[in-house]
Amino acid sequence: MDDLGARINLKLIEELRQYGEFNVQNCFSCGHCTAVCNLVQPGESFPRRVIRYAQLGLRDQLAATKAVWSCYYCGDCTLSCPRQATPGQLMEAARRYFIVHWDITTLSRRFYTSPRFMWVSTTVMAVILGFLFLATGGDVVSKRLALFEFMSYDFLHYLGIAVIALVALLMMINAGNMAFHVMRVLPKTPATGPILWIRDALLACKDILDDMTIQSRFSKCRGNESEASLPWYLSRRVIHLCIMWGFLGLLGATTFDFIFKEPGSYVPLYYPGRLLGTVAGIPVLYGTSVSLWLRKNHRGGASFERTMLSDWFFLWLLWVTTITGYITEVAVYLPRGSILGYGIFLIHVILAIELILILPFTKFSHVIYRPVALYLHALHLRRRARGYEARVPLAVGRPSDIPSSA
Ligand code: SF4
Ligand code: SF4
Repeated sequence: MDDLGARINLKLIEELRQYGEFNVQNCFSCGHCTAVCNLVQPGESFPRRVIRYAQLGLRDQLAATKAVWSCYYCGDCTLSCPRQATPGQLMEAARRYFIVHWDITTLSRRFYTSPRFMWVSTTVMAVILGFLFLATGGDVVSKRLALFEFMSYDFLHYLGIAVIALVALLMMINAGNMAFHVMRVLPKTPATGPILWIRDALLACKDILDDMTIQSRFSKCRGNESEASLPWYLSRRVIHLCIMWGFLGLLGATTFDFIFKEPGSYVPLYYPGRLLGTVAGIPVLYGTSVSLWLRKNHRGGASFERTMLSDWFFLWLLWVTTITGYITEVAVYLPRGSILGYGIFLIHVILAIELILILPFTKFSHVIYRPVALYLHALHLRRRARGYEARVPLAVGRPSDIPSSA
């Protein structure tokens, strides 16, 4: 901590305010918010500790805490705060702040803070993509819907591979950027051999498996009365799971088609890739529709009360992409194609590519940051537990018993 003074950022609160509204200057550190948060585990003390980091300008410590990514933003802490310090809003702002902070391209910052940049860049991108597809495509066949005579399959194929590779690379670099900084701040753990290291790494994966799959902790996030009064099928957990698993299903269906399907060939509805895409689209459509509706009506908890433009944009883009995908599918199975089918297909492909291209710069990028943060902390606790066990075998039971550095 010798150069702590150099790492204090006196403007941290101001910087965080670009990504949300909160009043943590009112906080007198009573700890009530931590007491009411159902997600706080032994050894943790968020959101109070996050507030202290923000107040003191300790950006490195804030960056390394897993608390920012553990919170599901139910707003319980904000409701219970006697000083209206809105700690939940700070947690949300901190997540946006670090989505921006870890992005080496700085495009996330522009997406979050400049609506004009977001609209202009996505519109220009759509026009360029449309032009390229039309320039490389062929004729419109009117007797049947020949999508890959209208559009060059090769061009779409290689463009798709390039876009996915670029986005995957960027997300890996950003995640590596985060991991590097988090590990730099976490206390050092005792050295172990490769076998133990692999074992700890696998066990840490197991520790975060629930969070990455069924997210049962979400159910502990009660939220306000407006959220509690909603039926289970409108709960944030169900919406989140629908969008997450549906999106993964759509990605899987597209990948399957890219690898196995003969370009432009007719396949029945029960063909694996087609079936997976058709089924996976349903939860995506459901999750995005409900999320948009709840956000518009400010219902369903704190996280739906204030939505930033880039979050709206991402949800609408996902919704329209899914709808146009279904319309294209219906057009394919109609006995006669129509010019409308070609237009909808063109829009669908352009939006799908845009959607993938903006993933690293939107709220969606938490799909990579959250697991990385939770994994690094789970690994740290495992390794730290091993160090303690080696010295005081009877003093420590489970890793969660050990005070977290965060
Ligand atoms: S945010 Fe509110 S509840 Fe939490 S420590 Fe500060 S004053 Fe107490
Ligand atoms: S918003 Fe909910 S989950 Fe997040 S810190 Fe507050 S009480 Fe905990």
